[in-house]
Amino acid sequence: MFDSPALTSAVSNILQQNEPKHLTVKFRSENADTHQTDIRMNHYLVSRFRKKLKSLPVADYHGLKSPGLTCYLNSVLQVLFMTENFRDALKSPDQQRASKEPPIVDPELRRLFDDLQKQLAETRNITEKLGITDVFEQRDAAEYFEKILCMTSQDASKIFKGELNHRTTCCKCDMKNDSRSFFWILPLMVEDSRYKTYNLKQGLEAFFELQQVSGDDQIYCSHCDEKQNANIKWEITQHPDVLTLLLKRFTFDYKLRRYVKLHCKADVPQTLHMEKCTYELYAVVNHFGSLTGGHYTAEIKSYENGQWYSFNDGRVESVKLFFAKENPLRSSTAYILLYRKVSKEAPKTEGGDHDAQCAHTDVKAEGRSHETHRGDADVPHYQPDIL
Ligand SMILES: [Zn+2]
Repeated sequence: MFDSPALTSAVSNILQQNEPKHLTVKFRSENADTHQTDIRMNHYLVSRFRKKLKSLPVADYHGLKSPGLTCYLNSVLQVLFMTENFRDALKSPDQQRASKEPPIVDPELRRLFDDLQKQLAETRNITEKLGITDVFEQRDAAEYFEKILCMTSQDASKIFKGELNHRTTCCKCDMKNDSRSFFWILPLMVEDSRYKTYNLKQGLEAFFELQQVSGDDQIYCSHCDEKQNANIKWEITQHPDVLTLLLKRFTFDYKLRRYVKLHCKADVPQTLHMEKCTYELYAVVNHFGSLTGGHYTAEIKSYENGQWYSFNDGRVESVKLFFAKENPLRSSTAYILLYRKVSKEAPKTEGGDHDAQCAHTDVKAEGRSHETHRGDADVPHYQPDIL
């Protein structure tokens, strides 16, 4: 039921645009004396109208203009924009900062996020702040995700910050040595296999499995005062609010003596359970194409309406991901995966300060430099959300 003549006219125009000639809009006028129009539209027309609206280039979110080939940056900026706590933390004014601290990118991000709430936005201020001089040189999305977080005030970046403990145990004297470090991203090795699907759940378990080192990999033990076989184990001592996982698709091939891209399929679960924490997938950064020519996009679940969207530079569209309730997402392009913590953990970190060092992802920009064109995109694993 529509009661505004202006809206009625707009509806008629939309319905008649590109419609078959035989389709007519039927309505009935009543009470002409008072110039009120009551239009009754049949069910078929209403559903056609809904479909038309869906296909119009009107999105709930806005894209980012790409001044060159900065899709690696656009995809991670959209992830940050769509992370509720991060966006909220940026709204609060900057704390007084000591001069020795590195420059922060908060004001530029805040301005960008304000723009993104209104229109297609551009990233020139951010690229300048990040020191990107050649916008046609494609770089690694994971590297820039970390770089932005390193240049963001702690109030905002702490959402992505976790802490790992690296424990080595001497196999001879049983002396234990703990070393803690923080991380933004957990890098997971994937296998170069066309036929085997990588299982992210198992890959994550393997990351935390006990490993024994021996031979050339022996570790110096200060108690024995010599190199010994040792057991090594990583454990998370502080679970981040957002757990970011990286599928290491760019890896050095020792046979070929160069970096290669791995295209294997990966099963990405919607939910992850880590000790007492439960995480829910809300963003996937994809890399399409090869090492020498690729393109990044991001699929992100809105915290505002629960819908998934595909962010592809300037284009944003509502999508339906190909997974049912408990099924994993199978993808040959998923590269960075972001999980939001949905249940709390019991505190595990003991009190007191300790020196934490950043655990980086080993993703080297130089291995991926001089990508001057976009490669052929693989088939996306989603479909546009058009009724
Ligand atoms: Zn020892």
